Amino acid sequence: MRYRPFGKTDLPLSVFSLGTMRLASESVAIQTVQQAIALGINHLETAAGYGDSEQYLGEALRSGLSISRAQLYVTSKIPPTVDADVMERTIDQSLERLGVDYLDALAIHGLNTEEHLTWVTAPNGCMKAVRKAVTDGRVRHVGFSTHGFLELILQAIATDQFEFINLHYTLFFQRNNAALDLAHQKDMGVFIISPADKGGLLYTPSPTLEALCHPISPLALNYRFLLSDPRITTLSVGAANPAELALPLALADQDGSLSVMELEALQRLQTQQELALGSDRCSQCYACLPCPEGIHIPEVLRLRNLATAYDMTQYGQYRYRMFENAGHWFPGNKGNRCTTCGDCLPRCPESLNIPVLLQDTHAKLKGAARRRLWE
Ligand code: SF4
Ligand code: SF4
Repeated sequence: MRYRPFGKTDLPLSVFSLGTMRLASESVAIQTVQQAIALGINHLETAAGYGDSEQYLGEALRSGLSISRAQLYVTSKIPPTVDADVMERTIDQSLERLGVDYLDALAIHGLNTEEHLTWVTAPNGCMKAVRKAVTDGRVRHVGFSTHGFLELILQAIATDQFEFINLHYTLFFQRNNAALDLAHQKDMGVFIISPADKGGLLYTPSPTLEALCHPISPLALNYRFLLSDPRITTLSVGAANPAELALPLALADQDGSLSVMELEALQRLQTQQELALGSDRCSQCYACLPCPEGIHIPEVLRLRNLATAYDMTQYGQYRYRMFENAGHWFPGNKGNRCTTCGDCLPRCPESLNIPVLLQDTHAKLKGAARRRLWE
C-alpha cells in the first residue's frame, strides 16, 4: 500500500480508503474492516446518513484491530444545516455511534447547492459548531463532499474553510479537473468518491470497453489513471465484504506514472469515442446550460457518449434513471422534458442537435426510477 499526505491535514492516508456505506451488518463490518487494515488501508469513511454504518463501524473499531486508534483515520460526514445547534448535536451523535472521542476528519456531506454554501458561510450556520468541535478536539480536520456543479465547488474551495474535498472525478468524468487544480493549489486533500461504481460500473464492464482497454481491465485502467495523478490523495472502495477488496487493492502499490501500454489504451478510448460519435459527440463544455426545463443536458449527453462509444448502456441506465429521483444529489430532469424551445442551440460550440440527441438518449436509457443506494 502506498500512502500520501491528505493535503494540509498531513494525515498520511492510504491511497485506497474503505467507504463503509455498503457494509450490511456488524459482523460483515468487522470482517471487512479487519481485512482492509490487514491490506494496508488506514482510512475508514462513513456518514451520519448512511443508515447503521456509523454503528457498524463503531463495532469494528472496538473489535480488537491489529493497529491502534492513533494509526487509524476515521472520517464521517454530516449534512450542511443553517442551524449550528443541529450540527453540534449531530457531531456528538456521530461520535457516540462510532464510540470514539474524536473524528480525524469531518466532511460537510453534500455541499451541493448555492443554499448549502450560504449555510456554511453564514456566521451562525453549521460551521460555527464545526469550528467549536475543532477547538475542543472532537474534530481534527474539516472538509466537504460534493455532487454539485463545478462552479459551486470552486466557490466552496475558495471560502478557505476546508482542508480537504470529496468529489467525483474519473476517467469517464473529468469535468471537475479545475476543482482538482484549485484544491491542489490550496494544498487540500482530495478523496475520490466511488470511482469504480459511480465512475462507470467498472466491476461489470461491457465487452466493448474490455476490448478497448485490453490487456488492462477497465477497472484497473481507471484506478491507474487516478493513482498516477499527484493531485489526488485517496480513492474510495465501497466494498460490501472482504472479498471485494481484493481487486482494487491489487493496485495499491501502483501509483507511478502511466505506462506506454496504459497511455495507448487511453488513446484507443479517445479514438473510439471520436469514431463512434462523429459529429454527435458532446464535448462536455457545459455552455448549453441553463435549460428552462431543467434538463442536465451535458450529463445526459455524457451518458449517451459512453453508451454509444463503449456500450456502457448498463451504466448509462443506472445513472439516467436517477434524474428526477435524487434531488440535489443528482440534479436535473430527463431528456424527454425537452420542448424544443431552441434556447440551448446557439450556445453549443459543436452545433449539436441537442433536442434530437436528448430524445435518443431517453429512448436508450430510460427505465424504472432509481434512488440513491442509502435511501
Ligand atoms: S431545446 Fe430542449 S434542451 Fe434545449 S433549452 Fe430548450 S428545452 Fe432545454
Ligand atoms: S454546449 Fe454542446 S458540446 Fe457543450 S455540453 Fe452542451 S451539448 Fe455538449
